[in-house]
Amino acid sequence: MKHISSEEWMRYVKGELTDELRDSYEAHLYECEECMNSYLKAMEASESSLPLLSEGSQLTDTIMKQIGEVDLTRGATNQRPFYQHTLFHYVIAAAMTLVLMFSGVFHSITTYVDDVQSTTLSQQTSITEKILETKFTKINDEK
Ligand SMILES: [Zn+2]
Repeated sequence: MKHISSEEWMRYVKGELTDELRDSYEAHLYECEECMNSYLKAMEASESSLPLLSEGSQLTDTIMKQIGEVDLTRGATNQRPFYQHTLFHYVIAAAMTLVLMFSGVFHSITTYVDDVQSTTLSQQTSITEKILETKFTKINDEK
């Protein structure tokens, strides 16, 4: 099979190819480093042409500006900025809790605590047992 042009890879990335062509291009990708490179280039080119990614920072600016405007309208009734409100911190804490819970951090922490507790507990038991043992041995020796 001959090499696939970068124009073809652009069509592949954009999903403009037939299923048959796409399958054969994918099969060629596994065997051809050169075409893998042009495929990656096509990926990069299509990514930079996506409006969402290139205007991502602009979007953030717009949102921040809108937040600032909302804050300004509230400024007359409340002098404190929005990040100083107790409610704001509750929301952040709640969001953090949710994120931690979903990422399983809580699970690993509780498992870790359980481990530590059970280890200390078993160590304590064995120490107590040893003390008792030596005491009893001493008493027995004295007798
Ligand atoms: Zn090739």
